[in-house]
Amino acid sequence: MTVLWGAPSAPATDARETLCPQPLRVQPRPEVFLLEATTPILVRPDATGAWAAAESLVAAWREPVGWAPPRTADAAAGDEGAIVFQAPSRDSAPLPAEGYRLRVTRERVVVEAGDAAGAFYAVQTLRQLAPTALWAERPLVLGRPFLPGVELEDAPRFGWRGVMIDESRHFIGKTHVLKILDAMAALKLNRFHWHLTDAPGWRIEIKQFPELTTIGARGDHSNADRAPQFYTQDEIREIVAYARARHIVVIPEIEMPAHSTAALRAYPHLSCTGKPEFMYCASNPEVYRFLEQVLDEVLTLFDSEFIHIGGDECPTGVWKKCPRCQALKTRENMPDERGLQSRMIHHFDRHLAARGRRLVGWDEILEGGLAPGATVMSWRGVDGAHKAAALGQDVILTPRTYLYLDYPQTETPDGYSYFAIQVNSPERILAFDPLAGFAPAHHGRILGVQGSLWGEHVFDGDDAEWKLFPRLFAVSEKAWAPAGAAWEEFQPRMTAMSERFRLAGYRVATAAEPSWYRPLDRWGPRQLSATWSNHVWDVRARVTGPGVYLARFHYTGGQHGYRIRHARLLVDGVQVSADEREAQARRPHQRAVDFVLRMPAGLTPASIEVHAELQTEGGADSMGALCVLPVEQDQPVVRRFR
Ligand SMILES: [Zn+2]
Repeated sequence: MTVLWGAPSAPATDARETLCPQPLRVQPRPEVFLLEATTPILVRPDATGAWAAAESLVAAWREPVGWAPPRTADAAAGDEGAIVFQAPSRDSAPLPAEGYRLRVTRERVVVEAGDAAGAFYAVQTLRQLAPTALWAERPLVLGRPFLPGVELEDAPRFGWRGVMIDESRHFIGKTHVLKILDAMAALKLNRFHWHLTDAPGWRIEIKQFPELTTIGARGDHSNADRAPQFYTQDEIREIVAYARARHIVVIPEIEMPAHSTAALRAYPHLSCTGKPEFMYCASNPEVYRFLEQVLDEVLTLFDSEFIHIGGDECPTGVWKKCPRCQALKTRENMPDERGLQSRMIHHFDRHLAARGRRLVGWDEILEGGLAPGATVMSWRGVDGAHKAAALGQDVILTPRTYLYLDYPQTETPDGYSYFAIQVNSPERILAFDPLAGFAPAHHGRILGVQGSLWGEHVFDGDDAEWKLFPRLFAVSEKAWAPAGAAWEEFQPRMTAMSERFRLAGYRVATAAEPSWYRPLDRWGPRQLSATWSNHVWDVRARVTGPGVYLARFHYTGGQHGYRIRHARLLVDGVQVSADEREAQARRPHQRAVDFVLRMPAGLTPASIEVHAELQTEGGADSMGALCVLPVEQDQPVVRRFR
């Protein structure tokens, strides 16, 4: 008998089939290009903007491969065995903005791009084509790195491929922001929408108004007394430059007229009542002057064409009671307070336009009439986008039921805290069709799509990563790839990207929940009551042999938690194990509780059941689920709530 030891259990994944986002066209070639420490990186003089891209490739592979810096070489110089950045050849079709072509043969790698961004994206694809181990950016101890042979052509579907991070609710800090920008670059995402002001805290230094940070930056969504946390202007400039080097535009969001409590804690005289309200006073000329000065200072820090002014969720109650706001409404014949809201957005649309910038706001800026230059970011579904496109104005799509990343990512709770409104799994994101329902004449109005991570439940940078990945892989697929892959086709690419990102030091959630975590049962509001009642579950499908099992009761939503006691395992009607504790499953910190049940050996049962008693706490609006899994299948998660 021959014993094979050390034989590989499965062939290595073909990197050409696991690129993310999927390129426009990939044609494998049956050859490989070996990467040597001595492989020259050549930049032809006519390769527009390719120098920085070549440098970024060398930087990424310096540790694992050990490369010298790129050098210029004109066409007369030979390129055998080299990676060459060159201008698109004259006999090939012109490349669109951000587009590129790659040809990997045994002799050479040729990168052609129409612009600097295209060359940069070609490098991102080369990094994915290379062995996964190179993502660790550490010296290889074994193995010869290579690139698989390929002819590849690529260009993005949308120009706006965005990610929003909310640092008002919880401040995650510069180190994590830079890391997220690196991740975005690797995924060919190019718009970083930075939510810097909101009710919990003001996070950007404004030199004309120092109290915005000494007072407004104090506190966060978890703790109103937390010491001030904000970005200095030097830090902002550093982050903007870092993003720019990765072809990412940073779009700041300065909220108005609502979500402004932090600013009004610093300058309460700018509200209708003189107290730190949620809204600025809509009629006070000093409010307009203040916001103009703030924006003008913001414009010196950010070079983005677009400036986000928020504009969402405007409760008008305080304006209804303000004599000055009411007088303005009457004077300008406004039908209601939406006129005040619209007047302010119109004003800042003109203010930004006069400075060569464009205003973008959440879809509430449609209320009371859309300002002529405004771009609408549609979050309450896509109705706002349809209305704005029909008016001939540009739109960005981040519908919450697909692209809000603060919503759960799997059916089964993963131990993290979320807005439990809707499961936005990678599969769900992939099912989003950005152009659905838009008349072909309006397709040009859709600038792109964006994944948005609100910060109420994002307690720190690690938490942010867990919620961004792997879902950003699906966002990039939607934003870049021609029509976006089907889920089955996308899954192996997401798995491969997860492996690459984990090696690069990112926290990546499990892409799809393990089958053991799928609930055996789930219940909605009013299915449990405030008195104890016994419940029975058939668990034969899960209890498949002797061993230790967990009966895991999840709280999944509703106003009220619930209690569990007297959990038992019954085999053919006879109790074989019991866990007699009493415990609660409720928000925000005790979302699941485990009961330990032991299945004895030597039984061939006809029935296996879990019994437990349940009652709700304080009311019947409680939703939950039960999972039963062998303890060795469990993947414990460290509690991260603060
Ligand atoms: Zn007022």
